[in-house]
Amino acid sequence: MTRAELEALPAAVLDEAVDDLTALSSVHDATMLDTLRRRHAADEIFTSIGEVVISVNPFKPVPSCTPDSIARLSQQGEAAPPHVARVASVAYRKMTGDDGSPPRAQSILISGESGAGKTEACKLCLMALASVSGSSQGATEGAVESALLLEAFGNAKTVYNDNSSRFGKWTAVFFDASRRIVACHAEAFLLEKPRVVGTGPGERSYHIFYQMLAGANEEERRELSLQSSCSAYAYLRGGTDAISGVDDAAQWRETAARMSLLGIGGERRGELMRVIAAVLAIGNIGFTAADDGTRCVSGEGGRWLAHAASLLRVSPSQLAEKLTSRVLTAGGKGRSSMYTVALDAEACEAARDALAQSLYAAAFESLVESLNGSQEEAAAAAGRVRGCATVDNERFVGLLDIFGFENFALNSFEQLCINFANERLQAHFIDALVKLRVLEYEREGVPLTAIDSLPSSPQAQLALLDGKAVGLFASLDDEGSVPGGSEQGYVDGLVARFGSNGACASEAFDPLKRGKGSRLDRLSFCVVHFAEPVRYSAEGWLAKNVSGLHPDLAFVLNQSESPLVRGMYPSSTADATAKRPSVGAAFRKSLRSLSTVMLQTTQSFLRCVKPNGHKAADTFDGRFVMRQLRYTGVAAVVAIQRAGYPVSMAHADFVGRYRCL
Ligand code: ATP
Ligand code: MG
Repeated sequence: MTRAELEALPAAVLDEAVDDLTALSSVHDATMLDTLRRRHAADEIFTSIGEVVISVNPFKPVPSCTPDSIARLSQQGEAAPPHVARVASVAYRKMTGDDGSPPRAQSILISGESGAGKTEACKLCLMALASVSGSSQGATEGAVESALLLEAFGNAKTVYNDNSSRFGKWTAVFFDASRRIVACHAEAFLLEKPRVVGTGPGERSYHIFYQMLAGANEEERRELSLQSSCSAYAYLRGGTDAISGVDDAAQWRETAARMSLLGIGGERRGELMRVIAAVLAIGNIGFTAADDGTRCVSGEGGRWLAHAASLLRVSPSQLAEKLTSRVLTAGGKGRSSMYTVALDAEACEAARDALAQSLYAAAFESLVESLNGSQEEAAAAAGRVRGCATVDNERFVGLLDIFGFENFALNSFEQLCINFANERLQAHFIDALVKLRVLEYEREGVPLTAIDSLPSSPQAQLALLDGKAVGLFASLDDEGSVPGGSEQGYVDGLVARFGSNGACASEAFDPLKRGKGSRLDRLSFCVVHFAEPVRYSAEGWLAKNVSGLHPDLAFVLNQSESPLVRGMYPSSTADATAKRPSVGAAFRKSLRSLSTVMLQTTQSFLRCVKPNGHKAADTFDGRFVMRQLRYTGVAAVVAIQRAGYPVSMAHADFVGRYRCL
């Protein structure tokens, strides 16, 4: 709707002060935006649109998000105004069956772009669930503190958000027979690994590095071979050091206290921090040409290599050898022979960075596992004390805090994964809302034929991306497994397959938008996602799709004297002949199992929106917000509302207004 059309709307439409957009007599993009703008100006950050709650980030403390407000609103349940606490407490009542329906597991899907407030909303949900269930201080603390601990290792400052989650997270909050929180189980998706080895200007690597460098005491510094400043480390040099308003040294003490509280103290914590310090040391390993022309670790690099090897408790000579050479096998069955080739400078650096990324990601995974383990132990202990069943697999509320749809000037494999996840979630969202709309019509006795065209879930896109044999991910796996496979071959194959025909192809893949000209252009292609078309460049995708560390390096780590490091690289990772699923295949698999779990739950939706691109309070940019409403699928809710009978009024209001006619 244009501004002129908006101004031409009857004043009555715009004057409706509603907190549920479906109560507007006419829902349009413009009326929706106008309502959100007014509520944002009044610090009312939550607005409903039917079953969906939209949250507009206030970028400042607001009265409705204080612990007292959360506790009060969560007790009100359905009677509360639109609020994340209402979403959580209604979900709790549905899970317990207190609302009169059969008890059922629940999930709350929180989406929105970076900095929109998903992680904060997730924490508010946890607080509301703790409050409504009357859970013990200990269980609540465990849930919130483990979320905060994961933030130290999985969050970083980006240009969009000073505390940006660089992984997707599913947290299942389990309740015991007395319906109190008993444990949380977290699952992390797709930690952003490249950040470990360098960041862009104005950004930082993971918080934990800066916390450790700022806060470690003398003894820890000695033990971890730490330098005094971030600039001493190649991996931390590209970005910024500090976040305004954040005291990294104080955060380090909080992180340490949290680890102890959550049962990761003593040697366990020491081992984990040694891996984190080793990652920084690895970044400083440089290479130089040896007399015979091959590469070796440089003099200064040798000192760092010794630090890294000692922190990881592996052999320094083996580590140096595997960073600079590879063992290759040639020949067929029975006649194979092995020989060693020296790596060139670029390959040595790639091996070093792959090692650092792999170690950090494995340390993060092991932290998630430890936290889940300590929660289960707490659950078992609570069960013994209270003499009741511990974790009941049916009695949980799952919280999904996952990266929103992304579309940058240049999009890579990571964006394809993220947008694929969003495409899947959009399918859940549309299916759930259409189902509710159909139920509403049935309840009102309105024939379904009145609904002419409900938006459909993005099946074509899902088939294109996730197709078993020919999807974008499967094709990339194929290209990576054939001798001589290349990214150009991959893109050419896509164009040949999806370029001209096929049910999903014409809708979701447009070869005409494929670039011509430069190499980068020739490697690019376009996918028409539910939100908008996105142009991807397949540069480097074959390497990005290979999971795991090179078996030669994994073997060195498998020999470590540190049980943590050895556990991160079991023998199977060091087996050169073992076939590992690709990154894409593993991600598709974890999304599929997430979908399966979510389909067994009743889903609620929270859409987080940023009011402006400058993290500013009290500023609402309509165009900026509208784009996100499309990305998060809220615009589709409006379409669902408008399909069939777009205007709905209570009977009494209708009679009051139109009886004169
Ligand atoms: P990312 O995808 O980058 O992880 P996100 O959607 O998780 O982003 P958050 O980290 O939750 O975003 O929020 C970004 C910042 O916005 C917070 O650090 C905080 O400053 C502010 N913010 C978010 N929600 C609220 C809220 N309810 N009240 C006050 N400030 C908020
Ligand atoms: Mg976040």
